Amino acid sequence: MTLRDVLIKRIAAQGPITIAEYMTTALLHPTHGYYTTRDPFGTQGDFTTAPEISQMFGELIGLCLAQSWLDQGAPSDFVLAELGPGRGTLMADILRATATVPGFLASAQVVLVEASPALRKTQAEMLKDHAPTWVNGVEDIPPGPLWLVANEFFDALPIRQFVREGNGWRERCVGLEDGHLTFGLSPLGPQTALEHRLEDTTDGDLVELCAPATALIRHIAPQIAERGCALIVDYGDWCSQGDTLQAVRGHAPTDPLADPGNADLTAHVDFEALVRAAAPAAHTMVTPQGVFLERLGITQRAETLAQHLRDIALEHHIAAHRRLTHAGEMGNLFKVLGLFPSHAAPPPGLTT
Ligand code: SAH
Repeated sequence: MTLRDVLIKRIAAQGPITIAEYMTTALLHPTHGYYTTRDPFGTQGDFTTAPEISQMFGELIGLCLAQSWLDQGAPSDFVLAELGPGRGTLMADILRATATVPGFLASAQVVLVEASPALRKTQAEMLKDHAPTWVNGVEDIPPGPLWLVANEFFDALPIRQFVREGNGWRERCVGLEDGHLTFGLSPLGPQTALEHRLEDTTDGDLVELCAPATALIRHIAPQIAERGCALIVDYGDWCSQGDTLQAVRGHAPTDPLADPGNADLTAHVDFEALVRAAAPAAHTMVTPQGVFLERLGITQRAETLAQHLRDIALEHHIAAHRRLTHAGEMGNLFKVLGLFPSHAAPPPGLTT
């Protein structure tokens, strides 16, 4: 039985499901889920992320975290956490780049929040010299000072979609039509979580809510407000507006309902919603990835690495620098948000 059949059977028995339930099942079903069953990254896979494009991304993130740690008095026992580490490349680059920062690695306990058993195995191999521990959610991150990074993690969290009608909302759901999965709208009802969106929307507008994302930020914010920092990198914008649910397979967009479990499903991150949940931690401005990396010195780092490269390797390196930073590529679509204690300096590369 395919995951599509599983979903059709469930909907036939129980009625339409929310997009959040559809996403969770498609991505993390125990035996058929997209992340549960595979390593989706790289040219052979479905998509490529910033740490897989160039080591420079993880190196600069690592030095940013280490400088923030130094700025806050270099606590001798802290958690270095990553949400959704994929292949473990970002964390490996962070650990290599920070090896020269006195005391940083010796003080760090590496904790990885990862739901996929298949990817946990890949991460264990990649990070075997650093004795990481794995947890299922941020609730299980140990207490104390916390430096945390998440790249392309929040976009994988399940969203719900609502279409405005008068002063109420209809939820967009996944149902059945002639035995096929199809989108439909639930009956009209009020939505307390969307009251503030009555101000900036009109009839027919679609907005998205990602309850797990705000719950997650609410959970880590008090810990970071004491001592630590979070760097959240993802595609998205200030304030959700419109349908951003997308499926990608083999580096090309595809129909989100066509083959659940075999395509990546994401939605743009609503950074305003994350900021609204960030108190008591302070937050930085939402900053384009290209600007952030340039401020951290990616061009100087690229020039140093280029000295050792020739021919096709040099061409790839120059293309990677451009891909990470250029406004027409990932530089503008991807944004960075920092959380930090209000009594401390913001992490380097970001401003308030
Ligand atoms: N950060 C990596 C991978 C991004 S893909 C990179 O930049 O390359 C998303 C990652 O989040 C995968 O590792 C996936 O298994 C994990 N993930 C998705 N949903 C999750 C959830 N609800 N809880 C924990 N991990 C999750």
